[in-house]
Amino acid sequence: PMAIPPAAPVPEPNWDAVRSSFPLLVSGAAESPELLYFDSAASSQKPEPVLSALDNFYRHDNANVHRGLYALSARATDAFENARATVASFFGAASPRDVVFTSGTTAAINLVAHSWGRANLKPGDRILLTELEHHSNLVPWQLLAAQTGAQLVFVPVLGPCGTLDESALDDLLTPDVKLFAFTHISNSLGTINPAAAWCARARSLGITTLVDGAQSAGHIPVNLASLGCDFYAFSGHKMCGPTAIGALIARPGLLDAMPPFLGGGEMIESVSFLQSSWREAPWRFEAGTPPIAQAIALAAACRYLDSIGLDHIAARDATLTAALKSSLASIPGLRIVGPPHERGSLVSFVMDQAHPHDLVTFAGEKGLCLRGGHHCTQPLMRKLALPGTVRASLYFYNSFDEINAATRILADAGRYFA
Ligand code: PMP
Repeated sequence: PMAIPPAAPVPEPNWDAVRSSFPLLVSGAAESPELLYFDSAASSQKPEPVLSALDNFYRHDNANVHRGLYALSARATDAFENARATVASFFGAASPRDVVFTSGTTAAINLVAHSWGRANLKPGDRILLTELEHHSNLVPWQLLAAQTGAQLVFVPVLGPCGTLDESALDDLLTPDVKLFAFTHISNSLGTINPAAAWCARARSLGITTLVDGAQSAGHIPVNLASLGCDFYAFSGHKMCGPTAIGALIARPGLLDAMPPFLGGGEMIESVSFLQSSWREAPWRFEAGTPPIAQAIALAAACRYLDSIGLDHIAARDATLTAALKSSLASIPGLRIVGPPHERGSLVSFVMDQAHPHDLVTFAGEKGLCLRGGHHCTQPLMRKLALPGTVRASLYFYNSFDEINAATRILADAGRYFA
């Protein structure tokens, strides 16, 4: 047989051309034609191929999936299941059958808590989390702990640098830990956790791992085979896809061993008045009509990101973030929190002279979209004794001109509030 040549690397794109495929970035918003969108960690903007995938589905292919015996429904079903295969291959999952479509990261984590958690945890078991977690990767475990008698323990954060105390892991990874759930990249401070090393360590101790990939999906190359986690959760809307779609991706075989969480149509094999049997995974976990158009458009987002190349995206994110960080550092009274070197594509900061909400409001009036507050990490902010932070978050479509403009606005804010 002929050897398959390795795929040619994708050349670095022209970033101005890339940016021009995001209509909202080109036209600006109704309130601010000079839109400076620095809130991609909350939700990314959407490129043309994703918009047209949504539009095309509803215009040409719209029907419910999995139950129609007519050609249109069969075509919708194929498109939906092909989307699952695209998502699986984008993340290096072993098989499409390991991918459960959910409404996003939050729903994916709750699915694990309800299904895997209730089946596997008993009083005295421990769930290991970190102090960096988004409420989405904290509150579901609090609810589960209350139901099962399991206990929550936390890897401590070392300070406003946002680094976790790895040495504490030696004491924390005890035999009664059944689950280690942690964020890949912190949405609040930008910390990048050594996810592959932690998963390997937990696995060697028989501990199940869940990686919250909300901020890593679509930003850095993620290959689940090398990441080595048991569960990976992400949201499509933060990686150029539509809202209300994301997935839980599991290690092969794990889903089949888990009981259903939501009951209803589509997830059953056979139903009688008193009992039912379930379909195999992943469909067992997709009760009701799924987000069909959204899944298809998420696959379009995966193809779009692949066409640019995740390596280029990660490098572009890093270059923009380094520029933003050094530019903001020049503003008097502005203090950057989070890791000194490697960080996700965001800069979190406080300003001596102004509360985060006042700064964000001031910036918003100039068309600069920032986020201010606790970023769904209230316990972390309390621990760091911060009133919240202002977060400027970037994606590959931002530009150096925008960074200069944003810095001028924040420098003005510093003088205004002084
Ligand atoms: N985890 C992290 C780290 C996040 O940044 C977010 C979104 N801010 C979530 C979980 C929740 O994602 P979603 O709201 O899309 O479910």
